[in-house]
Amino acid sequence: MINTRHFAKSLQNKPVAVFGIGRSNLAVIRSLHQAGVAVVAGDDDPVNVAAAVQAGAQDGLFESDFRQYACLVLAPGVPFHFPIPHPVVEKARLAGIEIICDVEIFHRLQHGRQTVAITGTNGKSTTTALIGHILNRCGVAAEVGGNIGHAVLDLDLPPPEGAFVIEMSSYQIDLCPTFSPEIAVHLNLTPDHLDRHGSFEAYYQTKKNLFRGRGTAIIGIDDDYSERMAAEVKAAGMRDVHTIAINRQISGGVYVLDGVLYDAMFAESEKIADLAIETLPGLHNQQNAAAAYAAARTMGIPPDKIMRAMRSFSGLPHRQFIVGIQNGIFYINDSKATNAAATEKALACYENIFWIVGGRAKEGGLAGLEPYMHRVAGAFVIGEAMADFSSWLKDQQVKTYECGTLDQAVAQADQVARTQGKGVVLLSPACASFDQFKSFEHRGDEFTRLVKAATGGHHG
Ligand code: ADP
Repeated sequence: MINTRHFAKSLQNKPVAVFGIGRSNLAVIRSLHQAGVAVVAGDDDPVNVAAAVQAGAQDGLFESDFRQYACLVLAPGVPFHFPIPHPVVEKARLAGIEIICDVEIFHRLQHGRQTVAITGTNGKSTTTALIGHILNRCGVAAEVGGNIGHAVLDLDLPPPEGAFVIEMSSYQIDLCPTFSPEIAVHLNLTPDHLDRHGSFEAYYQTKKNLFRGRGTAIIGIDDDYSERMAAEVKAAGMRDVHTIAINRQISGGVYVLDGVLYDAMFAESEKIADLAIETLPGLHNQQNAAAAYAAARTMGIPPDKIMRAMRSFSGLPHRQFIVGIQNGIFYINDSKATNAAATEKALACYENIFWIVGGRAKEGGLAGLEPYMHRVAGAFVIGEAMADFSSWLKDQQVKTYECGTLDQAVAQADQVARTQGKGVVLLSPACASFDQFKSFEHRGDEFTRLVKAATGGHHG
């Protein structure tokens, strides 16, 4: 846990209000409590308030006068602007107190460690984990957290020459009025979470706030808004900007052509290495790998060391993660693919796919995946979406098995794959998991367990 005494000293003995009790705010409560700060906590669910009290907070936020607080620490999931601000936000605004999140507290600790922060619509977790892995492999002690894994205040302080690698959601950036990481990475921007930001323009402006202050900016420019972001950050003149592009040549940044990574960050373009890395499949991962490379280069790590480290990256669970290989058949857990756009990324990577699909459908269902159906050797459909998806798949001439549940789907997909002797058993549901599972992680863990049981736990 990170010591928050430095932040505590700035509060002039005022208590702190904390609302929304989850992973990040429990860490806030524990660390502020330890630093001697009085914390008053609230949540819409009394069970969560009890957890806050156990962590050292006092109950009774809503009955209290908000003018006494130094600030309100809000959980990033609580509506801040849209669709309508949560009542607690209105109360804080009326009282004129600052509204922040745990990352802003982390920033105000003046911990002196180099900080890399990663945002973007997609690829944040992969890029964050990959940068952390590269740094740790190359002798820079890196603590990885934020929107992935541990909340920032639950991390340990690395040695002075170490670093923090922090995944930032747009919600967190909204709650960080002064956070200014030395290295800020933005990958891409596509419409998402617009209900929370009001408009695409507002979502864009939020992401851009990660680039306030001095330092380095690493920006993927494969979509129009991100390209505009790179231009605006460059024009502001505060940060060295390195752009990232896939399948086109650029100067001043890192690009990938036909799967080969080129470094043009500081000098003439130089061919670095082939990016064919099993744990980073697909074009989308080329963007993540190139951004991670640029971050590590900015920190002075030589290209050959970065690439060697990248090759030992194990991948992230539930994101096209290989959970077994047996008799020429790959078993891949892509449970994180909760919509068709994410599933498309996985379908683009393989041939001869025994596709486990279904769950609670999102709007649009499987629309958009038509061009990939020639890669599917069989579809094994589960969950609430089974009837709709089956008829869509049959319309696409895909051999379809109505399995209902994941255990049936794994058993049947495995059996059919074995008779064919090659291919990929892929869980990439294009659906939310909540009809049959607690979370996408739960679904992916179940898949992994079933695969291990079916293959006898062999990985060879
Ligand atoms: P995030 O943390 O931003 O949700 P993840 O790294 O967890 O992103 O990846 C989630 C899914 O998003 C992946 O399974 C893949 O389908 C897709 N994805 C990953 N990286 C990218 C990228 N750079 N561009 C587009 N889609 C991506």
